[in-house]
Amino acid sequence: MVVSYTHEPFTNFQNSNNIAEYEAALHLVKSELGKEYPLIIGGERVTTDEKIVSINPSDKNEVVGTVSKANQALAEQAMEKAQEAFKVWSGWDPEARANVLFRAAAIARRRKHEFSAWMAYEIGKTRTEADADSAEAIDFLEYYARQMIELKDGEPVNSRWFENNQYAYQPLGVGLTVSPWNLPFAIMAGTTVGPMVAGNTILLKPASLTPVITYKFMEVLEEAGMPAGVVNYIPGSGSEIGDYLVEHPQTRFINFTGSKEVGIGIYEKAAKVQPGQNFLKKTAIEMGGKDTIIVDDDADLALAADAIVQSAYGFSGQKCSACSRVVVHEDVYDEVLDKVTKITEELTVGDPESAETYMGPVSEQAAYDKILDYIDIGKQEARLVTGGTGNNEEGYFIQPTIFADVNPHARIMQEEIFGPVVAFAKAKDFQELIDIANNTDYGLTGSVISNDRAHLEKARREFHVGNLYFNRGCTAAIVGYQPFGGFKLSGTDSKAGGPGYILHFMDPKTVCDQF
Ligand code: NAD
Repeated sequence: MVVSYTHEPFTNFQNSNNIAEYEAALHLVKSELGKEYPLIIGGERVTTDEKIVSINPSDKNEVVGTVSKANQALAEQAMEKAQEAFKVWSGWDPEARANVLFRAAAIARRRKHEFSAWMAYEIGKTRTEADADSAEAIDFLEYYARQMIELKDGEPVNSRWFENNQYAYQPLGVGLTVSPWNLPFAIMAGTTVGPMVAGNTILLKPASLTPVITYKFMEVLEEAGMPAGVVNYIPGSGSEIGDYLVEHPQTRFINFTGSKEVGIGIYEKAAKVQPGQNFLKKTAIEMGGKDTIIVDDDADLALAADAIVQSAYGFSGQKCSACSRVVVHEDVYDEVLDKVTKITEELTVGDPESAETYMGPVSEQAAYDKILDYIDIGKQEARLVTGGTGNNEEGYFIQPTIFADVNPHARIMQEEIFGPVVAFAKAKDFQELIDIANNTDYGLTGSVISNDRAHLEKARREFHVGNLYFNRGCTAAIVGYQPFGGFKLSGTDSKAGGPGYILHFMDPKTVCDQF
């Protein structure tokens, strides 16, 4: 009997025991930096000459690990192994598949701080951000395992007296999971184990910035009893093996999370039926955001300011759900801007290993350059209030930045920057607040800070985002509580951590047995 799901609690870093345990994990991981990691294909370790070098973004000279890099021939080998494994894994009792996830959750929970510490080094997460990422990964394991158990006998349908009808789900085959670096444990694990527990086998291509944490998760799955070939670990270039596997005639589905540009390309390529392919590929494509917090004239302004700062600058604004636009009623605009600026100017930027740091680095040189380019654009389009500078001598650090009086159609109000940059715009009434919030190509998250119930109800109907929050920030969705995914060009809204998630990776089958 499986107990009901509750989410993994976050670690209280005010508690001295927790601090000591986390710091011991940092110490342990530090001692393991610089190692080499092979690919894992059909359970075999495969070492290649070509490598991906994972670097600590807080300290460019520190190598986190050196990882073998798959090419097309190895991707093809992984496809063959995954096909073989599918024949066995798809026949496993769904509860036995779920048990692999429950066991993996238990292992990950025991090693939670270690995983968080890997994220501190590999992608610059502060302890609270890394802890939330680890907790979410555990949640996905626990939640999707239960979902498979609930769906194992299909759904009830009607039968007449002379027949017995059945409606049941079956797995698809081999799928490709392509994950981003920004939630390198949670999204990577969730987008792998959801389709996996449904009975599919997986080719896992993690982001090139975070292959080591992914390898560590492979070890957990293996220890939990996952048979060889069920998940194959093949880091590599998106354009080389990503395109190859997206277009492969045996790839049954693609579970992608990443940028709009790459996501749209995958969606298009997956739609084309290749020679030798006798099915349509399924796609779950979750992409970027340009997420807005709107502040009404009667709002609690202190709450608004806290929600904005937390949503904008947690993990340096590198969340698809991050608040990058704030639209404020003109009557309270100056006060909100002033409050947010004051809190922002007190944020500490620096080494994520330190307990004192609120914001670590951004992910890499290319991201650093892109964000500073947007800051230059912002200086031409609007008024810089605070921040606007970076320092990449040791790592890729950028000060939290605010632009005010921004035209709702300006580039910094429309394009995903994916860094610690927030644009403020003004509106004359609630209708205009909603209109500006909706005026982007994206539709991922948004928040309304208001004490007017009628306005909140209007937003419920008209604020067009997949995840809408009232009187809180727009980040930090929890598995099983706030299923996550976006509208418009934020993606296919597959709702990670939601009730129907694993159905994206199964085919429902109707069987009518007539007597
Ligand atoms: P990205 O699109 O650059 O890369 C994502 C993944 O796609 C990586 O593994 C990359 O190697 C791979 N890739 C690149 N080209 C490919 C190709 N041609 N074929 C197959 N795979 C390819 O995104 P990123 O920089 O890793 O992540 C940041 C982006 O992800 C942001 O836009 C962010 O908003 C988005 N994101 C969305 C969600 C969501 O749930 N909607 C969650 C997290 C991040």
